[in-house]
Amino acid sequence: MKKRLKIKDIVLIVLILAVAAGSWLLHEALGSAGSGVAVVRVDGAIEGTYPLNEDREVSINGGTNILRIRNGRAKMIEADCPDQLCVDQRAVSADNESIICLPNRVIVEIQSRQESEYDAVTN
Ligand SMILES: [Zn+2]
Repeated sequence: MKKRLKIKDIVLIVLILAVAAGSWLLHEALGSAGSGVAVVRVDGAIEGTYPLNEDREVSINGGTNILRIRNGRAKMIEADCPDQLCVDQRAVSADNESIICLPNRVIVEIQSRQESEYDAVTN
């Protein structure tokens, strides 16, 4: 009888942890997928800012680079640069992650909308 109760307790604790972890993961997924923007810079100047929660393809720098935003992530899918390093880079979604195309002077940087809060905490 004692043993059965103990197992029940463990099951209960595991269930509570699973629910907590699940809601945390859900919160994280929703937060990271919907809260960021991709800032596109060409030669240092901001050419455009695009929310990660809207799927689209963006023609950058008059078409030298094509950025695809899908499922909360940004990825360079086409570029006319000789090294193709930017196309080889993995999709970015987290704050301060970036894709850089040096030959075309294109920088795509992810910025979280909670940046001001983040700054307030660190300063
Ligand atoms: Zn490139």
